[in-house]
Amino acid sequence: MSEPRPRVLLTNDDGVRAPGLAAAYQHLAEAAEVTVVAPSEQRSGVSHSITLEVPLRATPLEQFPGYRVDFTPVDSVKLALKHLLPAPPDVVVSGINRGQNAGFLAHYSGTVGAAKEAAISGHQAIAISLCTLEHPDFEPAARLLPALVRLLVERPLPPGVLLNVNVPALPSEQLRGFRWCRQSLRVLDDDYDKRADPRGRPYYWLTGAGPLEGLEPSDDLTAVEQGYVALTPLALDWTHEALFADGGREALDALEGELP
Ligand code: MN
Repeated sequence: MSEPRPRVLLTNDDGVRAPGLAAAYQHLAEAAEVTVVAPSEQRSGVSHSITLEVPLRATPLEQFPGYRVDFTPVDSVKLALKHLLPAPPDVVVSGINRGQNAGFLAHYSGTVGAAKEAAISGHQAIAISLCTLEHPDFEPAARLLPALVRLLVERPLPPGVLLNVNVPALPSEQLRGFRWCRQSLRVLDDDYDKRADPRGRPYYWLTGAGPLEGLEPSDDLTAVEQGYVALTPLALDWTHEALFADGGREALDALEGELP
């Protein structure tokens, strides 16, 4: 008897009409029972935002089994897990994002935010991004997804960990393989272009990060630069282990007597 097909919840922060979502669905559906629940519109850069003050609507999709949800990727994942899915998913996949989410970009990313939400609720979770904004071909990254889902089904990540995957924008035959990475600590060299609108009023437009310098060999950004698919295990626990382990003696001493 063959193994039951894993259940996959597929989401995306580029919205239900995103080509990266369609490519992911096409390849995942060969290997898994896939339900799509994703934002109705483009929601890149919203990180872990949730909607609190307006009603959430879930509308059935025509192109995939699933729903589009107003508004954010995390809203989609939360609502899917609590209400929309017929059964809990084995793996939650967020992507394929248009644009890199390695290094500190992961902190801004709605793609990573959705996968974080899945990990918070105890699910195996993958965020996957294609490292280009220009004429993206999602096909090589999409082909990796069945194997990545199988990996997490057969060798689950520990609780509180998600897998952040960054795929270089290369044809399949030029990808050099997978590399286990750490999140790069290189700080982004981004800025705002100041321009004038047609009425002469200034506006600002965020521009991309500068050249890659000062990377470590184990960095996710280095792997992508060298043509490897970067697999970065990200932890939900933000506690600084060394400072926690020292018992906070200096901090607590300094605060002694400060409580009213
Ligand atoms: Mn995006």
